[in-house]
Amino acid sequence: MSPRFMLIGFIGLLLIAPQVASEFQVTLLNYIGLAAIVALGLVLLTGVGGLTSFGQAAFVGLGAYSTAWLSRAENLPDWAAILGGSPWIGLLVGLLVTALVAIVLGLLTLRLSGHYLPLGTIAWGISLYFLFGNLQFLGGHNGMSGIPSLSIFGVELQDGRYVYYLIWVVLLGAIWLTHNLLDSREGRAIRALKGGVVMAEAMGVDTARSKVVIFLVAALFASVSGWLYAHMQRFVNPTPFGLGIGIEYLFMAVVGGAAHVWGALIGAGVIIILKQWLQDWLPQLLGASGSFEVIVFGVMMILVLQRARDGLWPIIARLVPMRKAVQRVPQGVALPRRAVPEAGRILLEARNIVKRFGGLVANNNMSLSVRAGEIIALIGPNGAGKSTMFNCISGVNPASEGEVLFCGKAVTNLDSREIAKLGMSRSFQHVRLLPTMSVLENVAIGGHLRGFKGVLASMLRLERGEEARLLAEAARQVERVGLQESIFEPAGSLALGQQRTLEIARALCADPCLLLLDEPAAGLRYLEKQALAELLRKLRDEGMGILLVEHDMEFVMGLADRVVVMEFGEKIAEGLPEAVQRDPAVLEAYLGGVE
Ligand code: ADP
Ligand code: MG
Repeated sequence: MSPRFMLIGFIGLLLIAPQVASEFQVTLLNYIGLAAIVALGLVLLTGVGGLTSFGQAAFVGLGAYSTAWLSRAENLPDWAAILGGSPWIGLLVGLLVTALVAIVLGLLTLRLSGHYLPLGTIAWGISLYFLFGNLQFLGGHNGMSGIPSLSIFGVELQDGRYVYYLIWVVLLGAIWLTHNLLDSREGRAIRALKGGVVMAEAMGVDTARSKVVIFLVAALFASVSGWLYAHMQRFVNPTPFGLGIGIEYLFMAVVGGAAHVWGALIGAGVIIILKQWLQDWLPQLLGASGSFEVIVFGVMMILVLQRARDGLWPIIARLVPMRKAVQRVPQGVALPRRAVPEAGRILLEARNIVKRFGGLVANNNMSLSVRAGEIIALIGPNGAGKSTMFNCISGVNPASEGEVLFCGKAVTNLDSREIAKLGMSRSFQHVRLLPTMSVLENVAIGGHLRGFKGVLASMLRLERGEEARLLAEAARQVERVGLQESIFEPAGSLALGQQRTLEIARALCADPCLLLLDEPAAGLRYLEKQALAELLRKLRDEGMGILLVEHDMEFVMGLADRVVVMEFGEKIAEGLPEAVQRDPAVLEAYLGGVE
């Protein structure tokens, strides 16, 4: 069965559900839809972006209270009375208020790392809950009633069966938007947040911005859910916006499959139905009243985390035989390229770089330069400080002292992202790629700075032209390094040597003028090494500057125009390959042969 067919079937079921279901079942479906909208935000935020939030219920509350207050005309001052009674103004204001609060909270909390972030979300989750309860104009703990029901095209959605359609249209719309976002340039940046921040920054991604974006989207989804909720119930009080419910939303996302858009729906469905069922049956079964379902949920959470960390969606997806969509190598017009610097021009100049790690001096007074159309090899025994030097130059881990000039500009204190913009691109000795993403998508991350369409365009699929060109460019680079056979494979399934090659393609996708390659040939077989040397020569002839770290002497000597030798963090020799090979200091350093 094709995914499209499944989707049409599912929508068909949704359409007829209210006709055949009882009123109680429709209400349950409404709650599932509302919760799934919130959980979807968490799929994006937590499942994909790796940022855990316990506080989403508070954003639901913001949406609900905004519209509750605004849509009751008697709450408004005279001058604004004309707006009064309109749930649509309530929606708009709710979204604005939520966006404002989310941006402030996001800027404050997203910088927190590790477990401080979830703790931060708990803190504001609790604060907003108490705020709702203590503001008298919001009805305090008693809440507000008399909220009008929604009406669309003159049809009043008073009946649960009518609200049902609106809720599910909103949910499907939100799923569509989220799916689109993840399948875009911005989406690749978002997917890099979990485990790929250093790499993404080095490719020019503003990861702090991507975090705020998903935080904002998740908050807005929650707010819309709150808006629908308020007009469905026609009553709000603080109870459904507390921390406990916030935890339940997170639970839904995790149980459903936190990294999949449909997981939100599965999770919401399973939890809400189960909760209902447990609330009905457990007290009878145990002969006592109480919130026993909470205990069962706790046990269930532990089981899910142990047995099915990726949630239920991947299991369901495996059970349903789905025909894989045929993937075609993207084609498209070439992207504009950077002006190539004239051959011989100095691209990179590192002067007297010192890098200390506590008491350890990993680079001491290191200087080197690279010209356009030149391959420089940086060699030296393990631990000599070569990778450290790369990190200083590329801004990944800036130097303690010294100066780095790139294209005549001082970049010593710039972020790796800023340096990437100027045309420096790198690979990493310990490969940094996103193992579950395809080779093509990984390479496309390298082209991040060559696209300009933003989040909204991505969500609405208005960037398809640019996206096609980006993917086509990525595909060209994949082919250039000889990985075309694995272009749609997950990057994690490649052999280590090929993963390094992938990193070269990713670096090339940025259209750099200077390429920094940290041990690109390690793990490659003889023929693959030859192909790599061939490619590097070709790039040099096109005018690119290349700085590479390599252990294979034969490879280096046949390829490099100049060699810089390091030992114990210092430069011990520099010059033409033949001269360096005969240098007594180098022979001494390499006594016993090259590793
Ligand atoms: P090479 O790439 O030449 O093998 P490195 O630059 O990786 O060497 O390491 C040089 C020295 O700096 C080593 O002693 C290493 O342990 C140390 N070092 C590298 N990175 C760090 C770090 N982030 N923190 C502390 N020490 C480090
Ligand atoms: Mg190294």
